[in-house]
Amino acid sequence: MAISVKDRVAIITGASRGIGRAIAEVMAADGAKLVLGARGEKDLSALEQTLKERGADVISVSADVSCQSDMESMSRACQARFGRIDILCHNAGMFPTALVEDTTEAMWDHLLAVNLKSTFFAVRACLPAMKAAHYGRIVLTSSVAGLMSGFPTLSAYAATKAGQVGFMRSAAIEFGPSGITINAVLPGSILTDGLEGMGDEYVKAVGEGIPFGRVGKPEEVAHAVLFLASREAGYITGQTLVVDGGQRLPHTPAMRIFWPPKETS
Ligand code: NAP
Repeated sequence: MAISVKDRVAIITGASRGIGRAIAEVMAADGAKLVLGARGEKDLSALEQTLKERGADVISVSADVSCQSDMESMSRACQARFGRIDILCHNAGMFPTALVEDTTEAMWDHLLAVNLKSTFFAVRACLPAMKAAHYGRIVLTSSVAGLMSGFPTLSAYAATKAGQVGFMRSAAIEFGPSGITINAVLPGSILTDGLEGMGDEYVKAVGEGIPFGRVGKPEEVAHAVLFLASREAGYITGQTLVVDGGQRLPHTPAMRIFWPPKETS
């Protein structure tokens, strides 16, 4: 049997660009019905139009994930259009960089609201419909940052991403009796606007530190999300799935003396 989300109804936050857009494209191609969320209406409408032209049943809702009433409106819009919510992909997030000493309380509070409090808002807004149907698949886009690795200037970001996983592990136990799973993908370095903005030289250098020799593509994360969102993943909950091309596998820098092997002529 193929792993599929065909005919399932999915809300995707942060759907207008990057990983969220790839999740939307992969799920639409598989036959899911979609509610796309983000703040920027122009990008959202353009994606909605593109997916409709490909035959998808899709609506878009302009919503800020850090606003509880926006998440409730998004949930209501989904139920009004499709009658249920099978899948929530909570993917929206931001990753500003700052040293700890340069991080103000306002920056910290804003980042926690967008990346972490939003997780609670989005999940809570979808929960009643999923509980009523005794079915639900929730997939969070967390990160290797915070859970598996550290990175200077990303300490506040890493705290939000580790926080999402902490929330998920307890929620999984709460939601199990209601037939609802909640899992997280942990992407490594994925080529979206944020990483591209760091410049070609940086992207190339990051890629060279990854066993596959390149950074990841958004669709490579999207396929992992589709799996966790499928009916077939119904006995997996409270888990993390790392999608990083082996970037965070433990290795010693001294390995570089003999690996990769030098080409001999
Ligand atoms: P991206 O290209 O910057 O896209 C972010 C998406 O989130 C956009 O659709 C954006 O649309 C939306 N968004 C941002 N703030 C929002 C808000 N307050 N309310 C609603 N929507 C909001 O980012 P990405 O690289 O695809 O990252 C997506 C997720 O993957 C994030 O959670 C990020 O932490 C995680 N991640 C990314 C990487 C990576 O290397 N790219 C690695 C690990 C984890 P609007 O601006 O129009 O709202």
